[in-house]
Amino acid sequence: GIEKSFPHKERGTVKVLDKIDLEVEKGQFVSIVGPSGCGKSTMLYLIAGLEKADQGTISINGKTVTGSGSDRVVVFQEAGLFPWLTVLDNVTYGLLLKKIPKKEAEQKAIEMLKMVHLGNYIHSYPHQLSGGMKQRVSIARALVMEPDILLMDEPFAALDEQTRMVLHKELLDIWRKTKVTIFFITHNIREAVLLSQKIVVFATRPGKIKAVFTSKDSKDGVVPSDVTLQLEK
Ligand code: ATP
Ligand code: MG
Repeated sequence: GIEKSFPHKERGTVKVLDKIDLEVEKGQFVSIVGPSGCGKSTMLYLIAGLEKADQGTISINGKTVTGSGSDRVVVFQEAGLFPWLTVLDNVTYGLLLKKIPKKEAEQKAIEMLKMVHLGNYIHSYPHQLSGGMKQRVSIARALVMEPDILLMDEPFAALDEQTRMVLHKELLDIWRKTKVTIFFITHNIREAVLLSQKIVVFATRPGKIKAVFTSKDSKDGVVPSDVTLQLEK
């Protein structure tokens, strides 16, 4: 029952999300697709607890979300790393804020950086990395917090096709290993079909759910080919 409006200069307010009902199973990989401005990012920020809904509630494991929390982390289109910190320090940053001892934090961070194939770059600075590598650090920084939910807002949109394909595989490997629930916003329907078990299609003005496609195979991140055909028609 989520509803969300924003103030608008000429029109007073604009309703961005209108009665959104969505249920996601623990460990599901869900993609959200839809035209620009339909409210995808807004939905993600509501789940993250960075914005407040006007109506409706969001609950996780039966508990209503009232603000942000380290059980939900966001990965944005831009990696947003601290340029003055090494890769390792970028990844341990959140853990140290959580008062995890430095040694333990570094161990966890290194383990996670190895998982995204950056084990040899822990002492590098962000400007020494490619866009894809920066995005890997950003994913490692998110996952090291051991979130229940990973919220990804067009994380690979700025990357070239080849890097994107490599990261798709890595993300699916991570998802299978960690069993984290993933919300993945993308403009790329192929990407959504390739990765997710569930695809939520938003319509614009005001943002409503237009269609939901669910994979019959709940173990793998690949939606059956009949869904591909339907989307390509
Ligand atoms: P895109 O695909 O371009 O990223 P989106 O689906 O993520 O689009 P949102 O960023 O959720 O869209 O924005 C939906 C609408 O809400 C837009 O019209 C935007 O201008 C408006 N909006 C979003 N955040 C705010 C805000 N903080 N204040 C005012 N209007 C906002
Ligand atoms: Mg957006």
